[in-house]
Amino acid sequence: MRPPISVTRPNNRSLGKRGLVTEIGGRTSHVAIMARSLGIPAVVGVKGIARRVQSGDVVAVDGSSGEVAVRPDAGELAKWRQRLQQHEAAKNGRYVLAVLPAITTDGHEVSLWANIGHPAEAKIARELGAEGVGLFRTEFLYMGRDRLPSEEEQLAVYRQAAEHMAPYPVIIRTLDIGGDKDLPYLGLAREANPFLGWRALRYSLSRPDIFRTQLKAILRAGVYGNIKIMFPLVVSVEEIRQAKEQLALAQAELDERGLPWAENVPVGIMVETPAAAILADQLAYEVDFFSIGSNDLIQYTLAADRQNEKVSLIYDPFHPAVLRLIRGTIAAGHKAGIEVGMCGELAGDPLATPLLLGLGLGEFSMAAPSLAAIKEKTRTSSLRAATKLAQQALDLSSGEDVRVLLLN
Ligand code: PEP
Ligand code: MG
Repeated sequence: MRPPISVTRPNNRSLGKRGLVTEIGGRTSHVAIMARSLGIPAVVGVKGIARRVQSGDVVAVDGSSGEVAVRPDAGELAKWRQRLQQHEAAKNGRYVLAVLPAITTDGHEVSLWANIGHPAEAKIARELGAEGVGLFRTEFLYMGRDRLPSEEEQLAVYRQAAEHMAPYPVIIRTLDIGGDKDLPYLGLAREANPFLGWRALRYSLSRPDIFRTQLKAILRAGVYGNIKIMFPLVVSVEEIRQAKEQLALAQAELDERGLPWAENVPVGIMVETPAAAILADQLAYEVDFFSIGSNDLIQYTLAADRQNEKVSLIYDPFHPAVLRLIRGTIAAGHKAGIEVGMCGELAGDPLATPLLLGLGLGEFSMAAPSLAAIKEKTRTSSLRAATKLAQQALDLSSGEDVRVLLLN
């Protein structure tokens, strides 16, 4: 996974910054996503690394190239230091770009937003030029503790994010637990296929008490900024209607308690299952916006676990089946007059930027450290050329061919 570069020791006495190397995981497993958001250099899925490293060893990590050096000698270390300096210099350029619009050479403007897991990240994201939060992964609020967060605790966190970003929007995704995110205190039974199991909106709908507590906190936070609600892992119209029923109940409960809450909070869904992408024309009439969750959409479309490095080559964002689902989702959303963004990791990959522009994507949401690269790519692309490129890409029959097209 990406950036930056670190020369570090396991005991955290780092020469650069801290780094992370894991035995298992893929580019879009949640540990990689979090590291990217926090700007921690990480390389995941390095088989056998744990056996090779001893306590006290120096380990150099380049998250951009995926290189890891265990116990580099003095000469190698000097080269790693040089790389680190180059990386730090490039980082300063990000702040210059932050104030410029994300506009193509032929005048088409798009929105660049950030993905966050903690309200403080909204502040950093704003400094890096984010004009909104396209995905607040709220499950991290429920993790690393021994009981559920109360409505008041959640309100404080959502309010902080809304205030940091105001007047720009913050899309708060309801609990997406399950899959590779467990909450031990809920006592969820182990499942044979957790990514196909009781996760995300399915879990929330089966626990209306937990779901409505979160919805109430989000509605109340809406008073302090520009908040939107998003439901994860939708596969049917019915689920959206059930979720909206819970939202209406949450509103009624707040009224009963005489508490202020934001009316007209837009409600959207993540399009991250093939079912949602295929039914996008129907789902679009139920919601105010779509956000394409490419991380899950790729894994479910290609039947390739996003965490399993053995199938990481099959897990291909540029696979023609994935591209068709993305194209169909954007087209269906636009036909129904709703906004369509993307908050999966693909939105933060500069190689994909012209393709996504050409497919008509309007909002790109990503780990804040990726904003500068995507903005730069947008500012040097033309929409006209991107549209042509996307048409060509859609005619190709393999992800490899698409990659070659994008690289040329
Ligand atoms: C996705 O699936 O693309 C997404 C953004 O959600 P998460 O990575 O949290 O599953
Ligand atoms: Mg997802």
